Amino acid sequence: MAKGNANNVPTRYDSSCLARGEGGGGRFPHTFMGFSRATREELARIMPERRCCQLAELAGLAYVDGTMTAQGYDVAVGQAAAARTVYLLFKQLFQPYMEIKVRHRARFARHNIYIVRIPHQPQLEKIYGSLVGVQHRYGEGRWGRACCRRSFLRGIYLGRGSLTNPRKHYHLEIVTDSFQQAAVVQSCMETFGLTPGVVQRKKHVALYLKDGEQISQFLNLLGGHTALLRLESVRVVKGMRNQVNRLVNCETANMDKTLEAALHQIENIRLIDATEGLESLSPDLQEVAGLRLQYPYASLKELGQYLDPPLSKSGVNHRFRKIRQIAEELRGEVAK
Ligand SMILES: [Zn+2]
Repeated sequence: MAKGNANNVPTRYDSSCLARGEGGGGRFPHTFMGFSRATREELARIMPERRCCQLAELAGLAYVDGTMTAQGYDVAVGQAAAARTVYLLFKQLFQPYMEIKVRHRARFARHNIYIVRIPHQPQLEKIYGSLVGVQHRYGEGRWGRACCRRSFLRGIYLGRGSLTNPRKHYHLEIVTDSFQQAAVVQSCMETFGLTPGVVQRKKHVALYLKDGEQISQFLNLLGGHTALLRLESVRVVKGMRNQVNRLVNCETANMDKTLEAALHQIENIRLIDATEGLESLSPDLQEVAGLRLQYPYASLKELGQYLDPPLSKSGVNHRFRKIRQIAEELRGEVAK
């Protein structure tokens, strides 16, 4: 598919050079850096609801970057947002005693390294066993639930992924340390119908997606819905910047409305959760409430697609209206 242009694949998986405007770039690289970072930060804010998914995401983050050392178990990542996610997931899952270290890299390197360390403690063996258990299962091709696989890939992307090269096309890349690791991530992506390419770098083995359709699909799987909208708006107009700007602004306006509505929905759900409990809702309503908490940024249409069987936008809206009524009644009672 790549038709022998592997040499044209960017050799770097961060795009700091673009941000500095090297190579005579105009304003676009800045916009793009914002996009790449915003994508990571959006993904880093997602906290999976289920324990199985939380563990899978942490196993993904630790897959390439986790090591047992004399001091304990270290997960070393190059991005603050990824380190925060590692920390929160450990805390959520195991409440271990943790240390965080920041190491400044040698002079040619661009980022710091953030280390989340679980020092030796009674439950370390159990924690390590849980992570390695997931990694082994996936290594053997026992894929299990889709929710966990998606979380695993989000973990991998947070630790090792990037989006680069906006000028001609987007290029999504995940850098691993060996062919063996790359093969596992590749197989995991293939369970979702994605077909990443594999390329060897000096010390690394990278997986990449070059096709805009597949990149959108991948971001969607990971839950990067805002990123997806922005990517789509850029894709639609290719290189026509004015239209890009117009579209992005327009998307932003629509997104603001979507977000505002979503925030109200979350408020209502939290109120019910704190008073009657979510169990008091009918299964239909519980289902959309759970999804909304899990995907705060998703549109009603997207939420509908996550349901099995899928539900139309108006169907989802109808359920949220009922939730609003219940919350309003509760507010009424609280006010009395
Ligand atoms: Zn799961």
